[in-house]
Amino acid sequence: MMKVTNLRKRFGELVVLDGIDLEVQRGEVVAIIGPSGSGKSTLLRCLNLLEKPDDGTIEIGEATLSAKKYSRREAHFLRQQTAMVFQNYNLFKNKTALQNITESLLVTKKMKPEEARKVGEALLEQVGLAHKADSYPITLSGGQQQRIGIARALAVNPHAILLDEPTSALDPELVAEVLQVIKAIAERQTTMLIVTHEMAFAREVADKVIFMAEGKIVEQGTPEEIFGDPQNPRTKKFIQQVGAPLELIG
Ligand code: ADP
Ligand code: MG
Repeated sequence: MMKVTNLRKRFGELVVLDGIDLEVQRGEVVAIIGPSGSGKSTLLRCLNLLEKPDDGTIEIGEATLSAKKYSRREAHFLRQQTAMVFQNYNLFKNKTALQNITESLLVTKKMKPEEARKVGEALLEQVGLAHKADSYPITLSGGQQQRIGIARALAVNPHAILLDEPTSALDPELVAEVLQVIKAIAERQTTMLIVTHEMAFAREVADKVIFMAEGKIVEQGTPEEIFGDPQNPRTKKFIQQVGAPLELIG
């Protein structure tokens, strides 16, 4: 369902993705962890071409793209396979919660307004914000804004959702509500790649954990393997530094 082969990206002289190979099965939840600057965000951004990869191939859903040479049409088709949830929500400030969710349905999918509204309302319900349909982002808490961001990503029914540190901009007391929403979505067999510093969450929700350092996947395995018995010295050191997750979220 997702297969990335030899993905490479550099910014000038700096090699940021140094040959990433990755396979994700349908319904799988993959947590990507690693030190700051290891290329985690760039990896997600290359998957939907927010950054242009230099080399490699990306297969997601029905789309296949070769980074060396691709057409606009291929790029457009690949982008349609995923939806991104950003650290800073990236909501449209001049649109209501509902309008943020339905925008892509109306514009990209050319859905009828009535139908889009129904889909949007169901998604608001799913993230616990049915009562905020007509609220503007500025009137919502960070946690609520991020839940709208997640609903917006789900709206287009993508093959996979890419979440880049979805809770790291939140005040600590707002983290749990967003993680709960992500966990509920994960349990419904949504394919997800999530870059996160929430180790307890990764341990509980992920099927697979990937540890990245310096543009490479250093180690991957089940949460038990990566957190409980890391093999690579760099993984060990990182897990020690961030603290192995002992407590699980409720
Ligand atoms: P992570 O998400 O793991 O913290 P990033 O993917 O954001 O890492 O960044 C990896 C490296 O690439 C960092 O050294 C960062 O400074 C650099 N980088 C990221 N984006 C750009 C850019 N647009 N231009 C130049 N360098 C960048
Ligand atoms: Mg990042």
